[in-house]
Amino acid sequence: MDLEEKISLLAAAAKYDASCASSGSGADSGSRGKCGFGASVPAGVCHSWTEDGRCVSLLKVLFSNSCRFDCAYCVNRASADLKRGSFTVQELVELTCEFYRRNYIEGLFLSSGIFADPDIVMEKLIETAKTLRRESGYGGYIHLKIIPGAGEKSIREAGVWADRLSVNIELPTDKSLQTLAPQKSGQVILGAMGDFSGLSAAFEEDRRKTRFLPQGKSAAPVFAPAGQSTQLIVGASAEDDRQIINLSSALYRKFSLRRVYYSAFIHPGGSARGSAGDLRLPDIPGPPLVREHRLYQADWLLRFYHFAADEILENNEPFLDSHIDPKTAWALRHLDFFPVEINRADYETLLRVPGIGAKTARRVLETRRSRSLSFDGLRRMGAVLKRARYFITCGGSFIERPDDPRRIRRILSDIDGAGMQLPLFEF
Ligand code: SF4
Repeated sequence: MDLEEKISLLAAAAKYDASCASSGSGADSGSRGKCGFGASVPAGVCHSWTEDGRCVSLLKVLFSNSCRFDCAYCVNRASADLKRGSFTVQELVELTCEFYRRNYIEGLFLSSGIFADPDIVMEKLIETAKTLRRESGYGGYIHLKIIPGAGEKSIREAGVWADRLSVNIELPTDKSLQTLAPQKSGQVILGAMGDFSGLSAAFEEDRRKTRFLPQGKSAAPVFAPAGQSTQLIVGASAEDDRQIINLSSALYRKFSLRRVYYSAFIHPGGSARGSAGDLRLPDIPGPPLVREHRLYQADWLLRFYHFAADEILENNEPFLDSHIDPKTAWALRHLDFFPVEINRADYETLLRVPGIGAKTARRVLETRRSRSLSFDGLRRMGAVLKRARYFITCGGSFIERPDDPRRIRRILSDIDGAGMQLPLFEF
């Protein structure tokens, strides 16, 4: 198989992994050096978004699409009848450097099928990252996948060369893993996340101790400065949104994850139940994209809007409202919390207003130090008044008094349309 063929095969095989975004890592990764080089076709280049909304390009490939595991939801599962291939470390190093020199990419996202013992697979990923850093002088972003079952030693080594590591939790419960990915175990996956957290804290402590060394002595290495992330497949198993949000909240708390990525389930055969007709998979007409979008919004509420998991879905509601975003849904359930007076409310209260994002809330507080705000001023600061209008007063005046929550819901549902136009960063 020639290199071009390998690129298209192993890039296509990697596209279902959503757990990459080159956020949280500065351009300077400590002692990793920098380079500015670039020749080949840009197959395998994907776009990711940083936490501040910046778009970055990554070369996203698998080292190999051969796999001993047989996860029902995966195109690369052992029982799938498909062409298999693997890069060599040298091929991947040259490819990454070439794409980087040509400005096709700002980073590498490297995962792999489990073609051998997990530590041996990890060794190949680590060798690629290490060669890029040490021999090619590559200073771009690197995201490596932790192969389930890899030991702490491999995770330690990977974190020294990569900016970010991730191990995919894949499904929300052990029961679903047993059904759809019987060779995987929740305990092993959570164990790897725990190893990462422990190592990250230990490296941080070493760096703190070696911060003020005499000249000539080098500080302790940085460990995966962009932290760890994970991916959760939505809709392949029966768990509801409540279980998913509770799980994400626990993962953020326990393992200080930077991101949980939600990936709407795509049938591996491309149609309902896939070409394999696997009865363990749900019979759904297409990927649940609106559900995925709402989960991202709920995740945003957990991480930036100080919502607790049980505030996002209350009273045993199993699923997020597909017609309105979860913050508006909360506001409509708590009309007694409103109206919020824009010229008096504190930051936490402002964050609860639909249409006012974290950035706008900070601007409001800053501006109020010198003058009071009008609705127009609020709009100029970025507030979405067609959403906020039912929930705020300015100097005691309403734009519109909230009356019937069902009417407001209807109007705001129309604003959202199918729910996909809502900006992810300010809602
Ligand atoms: S371990 Fe499972 S999800 Fe990963 S490549 Fe193999 S079959 Fe696919």
